[in-house]
Amino acid sequence: FVEIRHAKKSYGSLEVLKDISLTVDRGEIVAIIGPSGSGKSTLLRAINDLDPLTGGEVILDGTQVNKALPHRQYEKHINQMRQQIGMVFQHFNLFPHLTVRDNVVMAPKLLKGISEDAAQKLAEEQLAHVGMLERIDYYPSQLSGGQKQRVAIARALAMKPKLMLFDEATSALDPELVEEVNQVMKTLAQEHMTMIIVTHEMEFAADVCDRVIFMDGGVVVEEGPPSIVFQNPTQPRTRDFLRKHL
Ligand code: ATP
Ligand code: MG
Repeated sequence: FVEIRHAKKSYGSLEVLKDISLTVDRGEIVAIIGPSGSGKSTLLRAINDLDPLTGGEVILDGTQVNKALPHRQYEKHINQMRQQIGMVFQHFNLFPHLTVRDNVVMAPKLLKGISEDAAQKLAEEQLAHVGMLERIDYYPSQLSGGQKQRVAIARALAMKPKLMLFDEATSALDPELVEEVNQVMKTLAQEHMTMIIVTHEMEFAADVCDRVIFMDGGVVVEEGPPSIVFQNPTQPRTRDFLRKHL
C-alpha cells in the first residue's frame, strides 16, 4: 500500500538515508524508532515529498508520490497526493488566528471544494471523534498541548486521508497529556487507519503497532513485530538502543 523503494537522501556530503526500502500494508500500523539523527523525520517527510529524496521512489496506493514532472503538473500532482496523507508533527502547527472549527474546516473547503455545510458537518464529526467538540469555538492559545494535538489530528482526518504520518506527536507534551493523544491514535489503529508513527515511546509502540522498524545511521537495522524487536532483537545496535530506552 505504501512502498518506499531504495530511498536515498543527502544533505551535501551527509548521507541521511542510505537505500531504505520498506512497505506498509493497508491498515497496518508501523512504528519507526531509532536514535536522534538516524533519519526518521527525513524519511517521514520524504513520504509526502516535503523533503524530496535524492534517489528512490515513494508509492502510495499504486501512484508514485515523488514523480519528476514539469513544475505546473508536479504542483497539481503533489497537492492531490498530499490530500491523501495526513501528517501530525511534534509542534501542533495549528493556525493561531483561527478557531478550532476554522482550523478543521479550512482544508476540506479550500482543497476539496466541498460546501460550507458539508465542511462544517465534517469538522464537527472529526472533532467529536477526538473528544474536542465542546472546544470547537476556542482558539489554539486557549487549549492545552494535548487538546491542540487532538485538534491537529482531527484536522488531518477531515481530509479523509489514506495514510496518517505521526512524527513524535506526543514528545512536546507534558507527561500527563500524552495519554489522551495516545488514546486517539489507538482508536485510529482500531479503525484500521494505515499509520506510520515515529515515536520514542516503546510501550505505546509495543501496545499499538503491528510492526516496529529500528533505524540507525540512515538504514533500517532491524524490523519485525514488537514482540520480537523489543524482547528478542537480533542486532547488537538494536539491543544497545533498547537498553537505553526501555
Ligand atoms: P530526532 O529523533 O532527533 O528527531 P531524526 O531521526 O528524526 O532525529 P532527522 O531529523 O531525520 O533525524 O535528521 C537526520 C540527519 O539529517 C541529522 O543528522 C540532521 O542533522 C540532518 N538534517 C536534517 N535536516 C537537514 C537539513 N535541512 N539540512 C542539513 N542536514 C539536515
Ligand atoms: Mg525527528
